[in-house]
Amino acid sequence: MGIDIGSTTSKCVLLKNGKEIVGSALVQAGVGTDGPDEACRILLEKSDISEYQVDYRIATGYGRARWKKADEAISELSAHALGSYFLFPEARTVIDIGGQDAKVIALNEKGQLQNFVMNDKCAAGTGRFLDVMAGILKIQVSELENLAAQSLNPVSISNTCTVFAESEVISQLAAGSSVNDVVAGICVSVAGRVAALARRVGVKEQVCMSGGVAINGGVRKAMEQILGVKIFCSPFAQMTGALGAALYAYHKIKL
Ligand code: ADP
Repeated sequence: MGIDIGSTTSKCVLLKNGKEIVGSALVQAGVGTDGPDEACRILLEKSDISEYQVDYRIATGYGRARWKKADEAISELSAHALGSYFLFPEARTVIDIGGQDAKVIALNEKGQLQNFVMNDKCAAGTGRFLDVMAGILKIQVSELENLAAQSLNPVSISNTCTVFAESEVISQLAAGSSVNDVVAGICVSVAGRVAALARRVGVKEQVCMSGGVAINGGVRKAMEQILGVKIFCSPFAQMTGALGAALYAYHKIKL
């Protein structure tokens, strides 16, 4: 079992024989909550498996050190590298945008981590930026993709600082910009910020995306345009870290 205890969500994946994903669960509560326990409970219940049948548990994510039920913990970088290689064996660049940080990881042809850059000092270029902006617009983050897709003239959000960008969004709305155009501008802002990180690592194809923000096609498409590459994304993108942790658990018990 792999569990990814993030800043906003807890994700859990159960793997059989290192190949078959038996089940997964996601709970909208992360580090410092009962989210991790709840995610495990739901996963085991859905999969009809008792906790005694789980051979090894690996935790990853921001809250990995605090979850006492884990046999071991691994870094998010290792977990996302392993999970991404499983989903996309041709991936050489992984762009992971979570609730609190963004990372770009370079992999070799064996899926081993070669290099990375990370932004964890600032909300800009993370899911937090999108969550704050969705809050101002009184919409759900799940609505951002559709609204951005309907934009005809995305506004430019020039401030990277979340607090200043918040005022900028309010000014744009006051000046008559449509919500669609503002949302598209917000997605471009996050994509631009993370694309700059990606360029520091060097963008090698295939490029794939992981983390919760990968679900947001508005950010994904903006990033494809900025970087000029196709970005592969699995419906399982938000579970990539938990999947990588489960793969690591399998390697440990196989030894
Ligand atoms: P963490 O591991 O830090 O909790 P995640 O990788 O789970 O972060 O990503 C959380 C982010 O994913 C949120 O901040 C949000 O912006 C984005 N997100 C989550 N669910 C959705 C969704 N249904 N549609 C669009 N974006 C989403």
